[in-house]
Amino acid sequence: MKLLSLAYIKDAARSVKRICEEMFTEAPDSVLTELLGIAALKVNMYCLRSEGEEEVLHLRCSHRNDIAVCSRCGTVSEAVHEEKERCVRHLDIWGKRTFLHFYSRRFMCEQCRKPFTESLGFVEKFRRHTIAFERYVYPKFVT
Ligand SMILES: [Zn+2]
Repeated sequence: MKLLSLAYIKDAARSVKRICEEMFTEAPDSVLTELLGIAALKVNMYCLRSEGEEEVLHLRCSHRNDIAVCSRCGTVSEAVHEEKERCVRHLDIWGKRTFLHFYSRRFMCEQCRKPFTESLGFVEKFRRHTIAFERYVYPKFVT
């Protein structure tokens, strides 16, 4: 029991990225997906969690497409090579900090015989924020 609570505190303090599957609630319909407005993603689950003084919204999303285009040769691939959990900050929803959780996918290109990371229209490589969030925060610096 003591170990469990310690693990939880350590986890929560470490980052907002790691949220147990059990904390998410299934999103009953497409409303959240429509509000999110990112064509490539579908919202499957959500979690409204108290973090300090505020409530933070976490959305667990899946990809609408099961294919990706190789960045080297342009060949379409549907062979997922590797998946890694990724979490990025998105625009606030009703004043609540909002994070998107999804899998960052690497596909295998049959032509190049090498894996590649799919490029996503809503977030740049290695960034912790969506493009929409960056545009909102730094409007002067984005052309
Ligand atoms: Zn290729």
